Formats: sequence, C-alpha cells, structure tokens
Amino acid sequence: MSFESLGLSPELLRALLDMGYEEPTPIQAQAIPVILGGRDVLAAAQTGTGKTAGFTLPILQRVQPNANTSPSPARHPIRCLILTPTRELAVQVEESVKSYSKYLPIRSSVIYGGMPMDPQVKALQSGVEILVATPGRLLDHVNNKTVRLGTASILVLDEADRMLDMGFIPDIKRILQLLPADRQTLLFSATFSNEIKRLADDFLTNPVTIEVARSNQTSELVEQRVYSVPDARKKDALVHLIREFAIPQAIVFCGTKQGANKLCSQLIRDGINAAAIHSDKTQQGREESLNNFKAGEVKILVATDIAARGLDVEDLPYVFNYDLPHVAEDYVHRIGRTGRAGSTGHAFSLVAPDEERNLREIEKLIKTKINVVELPQFQSASPEREKFAPRSGSGSVSNASASNTRFERAGSDSERAPRKEAGGGRPHRPRLEDMDPMAGVVLSEPSAMESKSQGQDASAHSGFSQRPGRRAAEVPALLRGFMKAPT
Ligand code: AMP
Repeated sequence: MSFESLGLSPELLRALLDMGYEEPTPIQAQAIPVILGGRDVLAAAQTGTGKTAGFTLPILQRVQPNANTSPSPARHPIRCLILTPTRELAVQVEESVKSYSKYLPIRSSVIYGGMPMDPQVKALQSGVEILVATPGRLLDHVNNKTVRLGTASILVLDEADRMLDMGFIPDIKRILQLLPADRQTLLFSATFSNEIKRLADDFLTNPVTIEVARSNQTSELVEQRVYSVPDARKKDALVHLIREFAIPQAIVFCGTKQGANKLCSQLIRDGINAAAIHSDKTQQGREESLNNFKAGEVKILVATDIAARGLDVEDLPYVFNYDLPHVAEDYVHRIGRTGRAGSTGHAFSLVAPDEERNLREIEKLIKTKINVVELPQFQSASPEREKFAPRSGSGSVSNASASNTRFERAGSDSERAPRKEAGGGRPHRPRLEDMDPMAGVVLSEPSAMESKSQGQDASAHSGFSQRPGRRAAEVPALLRGFMKAPT
C-alpha cells in the first residue's frame, strides 16, 4: 500500500517523501482513511508504530481547505487541539506536525508547563491552527483567557492511558466542555484497559476501534531479558553490561528522581557519559539532556517514567530497567522506547529479589515469560567478598538462543565464562553483531521464532522501509505490511 492510495494531498506526500517514508505503517493504513472520513477513533497502538503520523497526516488534510497565508490572527483560529501527558511528547508531536505540514500554510504551536507564559501567549495571539498542549498549562491559559478553544473541531488525546495514570482526567473533562460538541475526537492509547474503554464511552461518539497490536503487547522485535542482581550490585552490573555489549546508547529507567540522580553521578564517576532527565530538572535542563542524547553526545540517559514518556529517539537499540516499574503497564511503555519503527531492540531489566512480584505482574500483563539470566559475579551484595569467591564466569553473554530456561546459572549456554578458542587463540568474546537479536525472547507467537535461524542483522536499527535486507519470513506479521519487499 502507498501513501498516495490513502488519498493524501500532494503537499503531504511531498513532505513524506522528504522524511523518507515509503509506505504507511499498519496504524497509518487503518487510521488515515477513517480520520479523513470524519469519524471518531479509539486506537490502541504501541509507541513506535507510527501513530503520530497516523493522526497528524489526516488532521492536516482536514485542516488544509482552511489553510491560508493571511497575516491576520483571526484567519488562523485553533482548528485542532492535541493533548499529551508530558512536555517532551508535546514537543515531539509538534515537531512532527511541523515536518508534515512544511508545504502547507498551516500554523502549529506547542504549550507546556515549566516555561514562561509570555512567548506562548504571543504565539497564541498571532493565530495557530494546530495546538499541541499539556492539560495543566492549557488550563492556565484558559484561566488567563489567553486561549480560545471554541473553534477546535478536532481533539486528539494522545497516550490517554498515561493521562489517566497521571490524574489528568478532571482537567481533560474541563477542557472538553470548552470545545464544540460536534467535534471529531481521536483517542490513542498504548494499552487498552477497561478504564480507557470507559473514557472512550464518555468522550467519543460511535468511534471506529483500531487495534494494530494486541493490547499490552510488547513488540516482537524487542529482545527482553531479566538479569537477576541484588539491589546493591545493580550499578556494577549495569556498568558491566554497558561495557560487555559495547552499548552505544541506552535509556536507563529508575523508579525515583533521587535514584536517577544518584545513578547518573555514579555512572559519570565510572567514566560513562550520562545525563539524568526527570521532572525536578528545569525544562531547559531536560531539553538539553535530551538534545545531547539525540546528538549522541550523551551515552546513557537516566530517566524516570514521566520524563521519558513519549521520547522518540531514533534507532535506540537498548533500554534498561534499573528498577522495575510498580505499574506493570509502564514496562510496556518503557521498552517501547526501543524496537521502534521496525528496528530490533533489547530491553534488559535488572531485577532484585524483592522485585520478583513486580516481574510476575509484568509477565501476566504481557502474557510472556521473560528469560532470566544471572550474572554470577554480581550475586554477592558486596564486591569485596567476591575477591575471594571462585569466579565461575565473566558475565559475558554468548549466543543466548538456547537460553529459554528460567534462572539459568553460569556455565549454561546463556552465561558463560570467556573460553580459549580450540586453537589457543584469544578468549572468545561474543560480539553484539554475532548475537541473535531474538534470542532469549520467549514469544507468545511461535511464528516469530522462525526468524532465529535466518541470521538477522542485529546491528541494523534503521527505519521500516529502509531495511530492504529483511526476508519476509523474518518480519513479524504486525510489520509485514510496511516493510519493503526483499531486494
Ligand atoms: P511514533 O509511533 O509516532 O512515535 O513513530 C515512531 C517513529 O516512526 C518516528 O520516528 C517516525 O518518524 C517513524 N515513522 C512513522 N511513520 C513511518 C513510516 N511510514 N515509515 C518510516 N518511518 C515512520
């Protein structure tokens, strides 16, 4: 399927060409015609599925007939309001709107807390067709009478499940009252809980339900592992894994802001270039960390859930859970930072004994048993004691394809000490590119395991259509629709 066949305008098609997108993703293929037709939508789509373009493109097309170059603010009323739970997501969504609307005289702007009101007021006063906002700051503007929402005939609730978790629903209900009753409403959520369905009943009118992946499903392209490590050794284990896998960049999730700060300082002390991102940081500090990470200047971004929500960092190959989240759904969101846009990714969780319960909850939610690997050299709570303990392995990870047994010990196929090559050469240290990216994943759908024998290129982390080398049999059904045919 092509973007042309979805009936998108030449201006939008030109912008898509510039972005290098060749085919719509499944959520785009399903959502675009429905939204163009003016229907309400309830969409369950994982992050990384291309959902932002899935709603932005048809919205731009619906606004296009009113697009104009007039300098008069009155000619640029708010026509679409996009609400997101976090500042970072708001910024990213607005960047997408700007990229897709680059050949159209449609104005967009983003407003969020933690920044001075004045520049936002100026932007609003000069006229904006597409407004992206976080609910709290939008209500500040409503209270100050610096925004008028009565003309917004399209409303998007992006990552609605997170807005629910963050307690934004009363704010959203207030905002809804300021919008026209006969608007079009689009609700996107990574997970599809009963509460979300109830919200949809309240907010949407006869919606079309679109579900591109099973609810609460993690991407089949993400290799998930649990490293069983006592709390006191997590930092050492993390540093070890970063070095052992020669990890170029990763997001590391921590449970608390204090924990994130502490870990960040420890990593810096260990010579690893790290930055922390959480809600106690100033907006400028958060943007700086994120930009430095995106530019590749920062290797490890230590983040809390709220700050990391919606981050889209291209080709992020690794995500670590330094602490498991207390809310199982957050695991799905966290690991959705990798394996995006058809790339493979790795989600490694460091799990202390007292987090086992959380792990069970997560496994129940994702209906998948995650492979548990032990790092023998990090089992003792104190590094000192290990100096005298017999070392049974270095923790280097060899091809883990046979490691679907839970709680494997050193000496198994998954965790083996470096060994001399038969010919007495250098110790065998498996490299990342030798690893089967699907190894260690216990998948609920056997078909995806077929890919194991096909020798995927684990180092390929590029976008969907830029990956001509993948064979059809390797591509999970979810992604088949928008991958380029084998060349
Ligand atoms: P999202 O799920 O909206 O956060 O999008 C995830 C990533 O996929 C973003 O980096 C988009 O730029 C990218 N993307 C979206 N649609 C396509 C497409 N049709 N082809 C290639 N990349 C895409």
